[in-house]
Amino acid sequence: MTTDLPAAPPPADDATEAGNYFVSNYPPFSFWQPEQIPAIAQVLDQPAPADLPVGVYFHIPFCRKRCHFCYFRVYTDKGPDEIRRYVRAGMKEFGLYAKRNYLQGRKPKFVYFGGGTPSYLSVLQLEELTQHLKDGMSWDEVEEVTFEAEPGTLTEKKLDAIRAMGVTRLSLGIENFDDHILDINGRAHRSAEVFRAYGYARNIGFPQINIDLIAGMIEETEDNWKRCVEKALELQPDCLTIYQMEVPYNTGIYKTMQAEGKLVAPVANWPTKRRWVDYAFSQFEAAGYEVSSAYTIVKKKETTKFVYRDGLFGGADLLPLGVASFGHLGGIHIQNNADIAAYCDAIEKGEHAVFRAYATDPEERLIREFILQLKLGSASPAHYQKKFGVNVLEKFAPQLASMVSEGFASISPEVITIHRAGLLQIDRLLHPFFLPHHRFARYT
Ligand code: SF4
Repeated sequence: MTTDLPAAPPPADDATEAGNYFVSNYPPFSFWQPEQIPAIAQVLDQPAPADLPVGVYFHIPFCRKRCHFCYFRVYTDKGPDEIRRYVRAGMKEFGLYAKRNYLQGRKPKFVYFGGGTPSYLSVLQLEELTQHLKDGMSWDEVEEVTFEAEPGTLTEKKLDAIRAMGVTRLSLGIENFDDHILDINGRAHRSAEVFRAYGYARNIGFPQINIDLIAGMIEETEDNWKRCVEKALELQPDCLTIYQMEVPYNTGIYKTMQAEGKLVAPVANWPTKRRWVDYAFSQFEAAGYEVSSAYTIVKKKETTKFVYRDGLFGGADLLPLGVASFGHLGGIHIQNNADIAAYCDAIEKGEHAVFRAYATDPEERLIREFILQLKLGSASPAHYQKKFGVNVLEKFAPQLASMVSEGFASISPEVITIHRAGLLQIDRLLHPFFLPHHRFARYT
């Protein structure tokens, strides 16, 4: 995946211009460099700290169609032989890591099959892959296995197999319930497939089902959005995730904008998208749900956990497997090669396929964990004092004061709370917490 950020923090209001405003990591990707790859070997040679949780991420880069808004590394033209080769390479890559000192004997706390479309793989491929991962690192202590799925790729048989693999959190990329909107945004599935797949999944009894929606797809309207929220509520998912549509530079939408000489994307402006997310959250809250982050609302915060996200945000290790995968081991950020042929070639030669890395220092790790935590709506200063020896209320006093003065947050010695107005635009508000030389970076 390549991710682009604007040359400056995004605007507070107004039109949706090209750029990726979503903050998913820190420091920004553009600071990750091939020159830092040797730092990974040093980490892998050492034993890991005893109590550091680890998770496994496996990227499946295949999709039936490329959505016009997609900015991930995906392939829509690969045949069975290439897919088989890729899965084998991923398993071999896992083996290269699993035998190193840093990972030997460790048991993952969470596993994530992301994409692309993991459900694009056959049942046999999924079973072989999962068994291989379990053989290399015991799943005895796994608390959550997440699996992303595109509804049109799911049959009852495949869902049965996915559940039998140990998947506990099924994440369905629905995005919208209107077939015309799905169509003009390049999405492969239609609403009938959503309801069919969801029904199967509920009957099978996945412990947690998440559904994704996107606020502000091309031609989205007020009325249609309300209908989408209503239909989402009828499904009663355990978790609803809503993304606000953005238009990174490597999307089909941006290419069309360029061809037509347009600066503004043909989607709703930011205030409208925030209002739509707020509407959805309010409707779900009225039905008893609880907001659990800037993007998610769940049946019950206490029990509807997202172990992968919380592990990642809290500084857990994440072993990245597959083309373009992102991970984090022993304080080193890692991204794999984004070209599938180059990735497979390297792994088949017994080499790692890392494209770039970044060795974080303690201050960068503090900033990373602090800003990611703010996306969840609250942060405890005592936690950072204990873990990093830093008083975040003092270190970030100007940034926090600005958020408070704008009505986005409130602060007590015990907790920093981000209000709904702040959560709805949290990514925009996080840039001032970056170190000065990271603030105006453009991600490539
Ligand atoms: S299904 Fe997801 S990963 Fe695949 S093209 Fe669409 S947005 Fe991208």
